[in-house]
Amino acid sequence: MITLFPCLNDNYGFLLVEPESGLCATIDTPDGAQIAKELDRSGLTLTHIFNTHHHYDHVDGNLFLKEKYGAIIVGAQVDEKRIPGIDIALSDGEVFKFGAYDIQMIHTPGHTLGHCAYYVPDEKSVFVGDTIFVMGCGKIFEGTPAQMFDSIAKLAALPADTKVYCAHEYTVSNAAFAITIEPDNQDLQSAVKAAKTLRANGRPTIPTTIATEKRTNPFMRAKTAEKLAEIRAAKDRF
Ligand code: ZN
Ligand code: FE
Repeated sequence: MITLFPCLNDNYGFLLVEPESGLCATIDTPDGAQIAKELDRSGLTLTHIFNTHHHYDHVDGNLFLKEKYGAIIVGAQVDEKRIPGIDIALSDGEVFKFGAYDIQMIHTPGHTLGHCAYYVPDEKSVFVGDTIFVMGCGKIFEGTPAQMFDSIAKLAALPADTKVYCAHEYTVSNAAFAITIEPDNQDLQSAVKAAKTLRANGRPTIPTTIATEKRTNPFMRAKTAEKLAEIRAAKDRF
């Protein structure tokens, strides 16, 4: 079971529960107090924290939540030094046994060098942090466009019906840019409308799916790393 709730200005908090064992994880810790409140409200005890990358809006609550619940912190081995309180360091492709669930770490460098996603086949879901957003992708702060291209390709290779949990609600502004890249893309036109309606009703646009992003996300649709670099640069100026 996955639940999401807004945190900070535009982040999402996510709780992942494996019902057989009752294990409960948060994906990233944008706001420790908010996550604790959500756990209380649902009568859950946190057992694990999975971090996608080291930016403060993804790890800020790590130590607070670890102290409060004794949660085990899981992150990318390449980012061992930058993930506060890390207990378990995973490498690309490694599977973490989360009760009856297998959680696969997918290294997705680009936004940061240590960035990773967590694929949960038992939930047909992937937590992608700041690698891709609905109709968008993360800023390339540390990696190269070629790395980001490869990372997005790894996500695109997941089953089409995989639900994609992005870490931020950036959809409406991403949509405004995406439509300038592919004005004639009808799937994109409908996605823009649908996103606006959801947001006007105060609802999240997340999760999306791999299939939807393949039809509508200009960054996932870029055929080469050069094209991705070009679109990313245009978005940075937008
Ligand atoms: Zn970030
Ligand atoms: Fe972020």
